[in-house]
Amino acid sequence: GKDAGRATFQFYAHDMNARALDHLKLEAGLRRALERNEFILHYQPQLDLASGGIIGLEALVRWQPSRQPLRYPGDFINLAEETGLIAPIGEWVLNEACRQRKTWHDAGMPSSCRVAVNLSARQFRQQDIVEVVSAALRSTGCAPAWLELEITESAIMDDPESAAAIMRQLSDMGVHLSIDDFGTGYSSLSYLKRFPIHCLKIDRSFVRDIASDNDDAEIARAVIALAHSLKVKVIAEGVETEAQRDFLREHGCDQIQGYFLSRPLPVEALERFLHTHAEG
Ligand code: C2E
Ligand code: CA
Ligand code: CA
Ligand code: CA
Repeated sequence: GKDAGRATFQFYAHDMNARALDHLKLEAGLRRALERNEFILHYQPQLDLASGGIIGLEALVRWQPSRQPLRYPGDFINLAEETGLIAPIGEWVLNEACRQRKTWHDAGMPSSCRVAVNLSARQFRQQDIVEVVSAALRSTGCAPAWLELEITESAIMDDPESAAAIMRQLSDMGVHLSIDDFGTGYSSLSYLKRFPIHCLKIDRSFVRDIASDNDDAEIARAVIALAHSLKVKVIAEGVETEAQRDFLREHGCDQIQGYFLSRPLPVEALERFLHTHAEG
């Protein structure tokens, strides 16, 4: 009846207000986090299967509010995108990753090890993204060749023409580009020929059952074969088991990243990992 309808409406209205309030609180929290410098980066190593060397470190942002548990990007990156806060957060990430990479260079890290930074769709479409990247390199003394930028397949497909132009400028600077979460979008691999890409990241949803599911194995094989025909490297993400690693190696995948090798680590723990890894 009428009353029940009103009760339902009030229930939803209340629910919506609560969610809007949560968003406002989170947005205010993110602004404060920027002011108070509460973001940190963890780094996850990427392994080259042929050489056994670490050829990359993916920078992954975390938020450490004072006296509260660490927060992961799944909690706040979407809202940062919606509110535009991703621009200053992303700029901080880029600068911090470049600064850290220069510090590692000074400590003897080989040039072949790139630090990989994620660019969200909105960041990638930012007017001045090329300038933001070159300013980060310039001000930190990080060489372009030490930096890789990860862009998702869907961010590129939003507007392929301007994506190609931006990627061309970044690539001409000497920065490497990889396509993240590959296989989750709708682009054909041959279409990607138009883009200056150095590496494809096979999404972890295909890696999970790779050693047991025929379809996933088939997809991985096709991606690897086509990528190689375009002279593009392939990295598999979300590798958690030895069986997955073995399958990928047997099928010519170039690199792996995932818990099997290491979780993303804070700087000190990562440096210990690299040290131990180098000693074999
Ligand atoms: P992504 O770029 O696909 O990053 C990989 C995510 O998978 C990371 O989650 C990583 O911790 C997780 N992961 C790595 N190995 C494994 C594994 O073996 N198994 C499983 N189950 N997971 C694994 P994280 O750090 O929570 O980041 C989630 C997403 O947030 C990232 O997905 C990326 O899209 C976004 N993100 C993270 N840092 C940044 C950043 O600095 N800027 C932007 N724009 N986005 C970021
Ligand atoms: Ca990524
Ligand atoms: Ca990914
Ligand atoms: Ca993914």
